[in-house]
Amino acid sequence: MNAIAGLPAPRRIFCIGRNYAAHARELGNPLPVEPVVFMKPPSAIVPVGARLALPRGRGAVHHECEVVLQVGRDCAELEPSTALEAIAGVTLGLDLTLRDEQERLKKAGQPWELAKGFDHGAPLGELVPRAGIDLAHLKFECRVEGALRQQGDTADLLFPCAVIVAFLSRRWRLLAGDLIFTGTPSGVGPLEPGDEVIIESAAIGRFAWRCD
Ligand code: ZN
Repeated sequence: MNAIAGLPAPRRIFCIGRNYAAHARELGNPLPVEPVVFMKPPSAIVPVGARLALPRGRGAVHHECEVVLQVGRDCAELEPSTALEAIAGVTLGLDLTLRDEQERLKKAGQPWELAKGFDHGAPLGELVPRAGIDLAHLKFECRVEGALRQQGDTADLLFPCAVIVAFLSRRWRLLAGDLIFTGTPSGVGPLEPGDEVIIESAAIGRFAWRCD
């Protein structure tokens, strides 16, 4: 999973919600005025080739295909103009979401951990070096059982990668190895046991899991 030489294993996973307008709309959410941030535990990571066990009996499990950044050095108080220099690696990941559970929590005004931070909730592709990848125009997609479910382009991000990194660095000291899920485009939907989910970007690679 960690293909970037010299970086420690991730100690934190930051995630950005509602960062593509079409996805915010499909869930009936208003557009955010600042990044919506939540976290997942690193223990939720499912590397390529590992078993992806979906939670049972807790309602719909949705795929959210996202571009994922890996921080390359400890840093803080970054400016958007230079923030991407702190990013060493890039990959794709799935921010798996217990959608029914999340709707229940949202209505109750409660935090999202039960819907987002569960075991196996963060399938993660193999990291590739950021150098040479245009994070402002990065296309990616998600297929389930061969059917195209999501197509994204980071050009459509409400808060671009550099803005997200700078924002987070002003609230936490970022640590080498930290992962940042940057948000999902529209087309989220359920995964079922037995489904093959594939996330792919020509610039990064193709990663597949068979849901268990
Ligand atoms: Zn997400």
